[in-house]
Amino acid sequence: MSTSDLLTADRIEEIGALGSESPDPAALVAELVGAVDEGRVADPDDTGYALLVAADILVQAGDLADALALTTRAIAEQPDDDAYSRSKRGGLLLRLGREDEGLAELTALRPLLETDPDATYLVDDLAEAGRAETALEWLTAALDAIMDRTRTQQHESEDAQDEAAAMIYGLTQRRHDLREEMGLPHDDYDNLADRLRAASNHALDALDDGPATLLFWPQAEFEALLARWPALADSYPATWDEHRAQTERALADAAGLGAADLGVVAGSVAGLASFAEQAGSDPTDEETLDEYADSLDEVAWPPGRNDACWCGSGAKYKKCCLPRSRG
Ligand SMILES: [Zn+2]
Ligand SMILES: [Zn+2]
Repeated sequence: MSTSDLLTADRIEEIGALGSESPDPAALVAELVGAVDEGRVADPDDTGYALLVAADILVQAGDLADALALTTRAIAEQPDDDAYSRSKRGGLLLRLGREDEGLAELTALRPLLETDPDATYLVDDLAEAGRAETALEWLTAALDAIMDRTRTQQHESEDAQDEAAAMIYGLTQRRHDLREEMGLPHDDYDNLADRLRAASNHALDALDDGPATLLFWPQAEFEALLARWPALADSYPATWDEHRAQTERALADAAGLGAADLGVVAGSVAGLASFAEQAGSDPTDEETLDEYADSLDEVAWPPGRNDACWCGSGAKYKKCCLPRSRG
């Protein structure tokens, strides 16, 4: 590469993928930092990105002090968009034994865990610095706070509900993986993580498996279900409204990915109880629920815009669940 070349985002990404696997990581760092020094980054918004990729190569080579200098510079170059750089910097400070500074940097970012679905990089940086316990504590507290909000603010806008659902999904998954790495047993949030992942895999499986059917509980059944088997409360959202919105979204996502032959089956408490009894299985077990769903008659999804909604509300689809997937 000649010195007059512009450094593109593609090239930065390519260097990031090569990383320390390259026979000459120092040359890659020099290429990135040189382009920043000489103002040759094609898109100035990628300046911080170039510096952080260079810092990462240095970290992999064990040169934490120089990596720290590059993250500090990345923050200075892009002060308006510096949360990720600050997290990297906080992690490096911890690893360099500068505990107070590192924790202060990371703690300042902690509120992002409740609002920014990408902010789980904080967890990575804490865990890499040997602070898995702290990371776990932060994840749990963030989940508690979001759960509390969704329970108490039932009249939140659909946008807010969608955001909360996305946050809960991301946080439970990251927390589940962290606890697994720490050798901890499943707790309630881990069970929720498993259920949510299964539900989203189910939506994605629709691509491969042809027909895909989601188990849905009409309003009265939903309430009866959770009253009869409180253990299932961890597997479902707090309200029936959220339950139908999640179902509509999963189907819309699957349809967006090209799945055809989508459908819904409506469960009933009495039906599940007798199905589980005949099968001799636990009605709250995910496998039982899947098998029960397979035994039911499917209603095709989506209904016509002016037809009755699939959720059983009696309203027209276009006025009921159709807009729920759009947030
Ligand atoms: Zn699990
Ligand atoms: Zn509906």
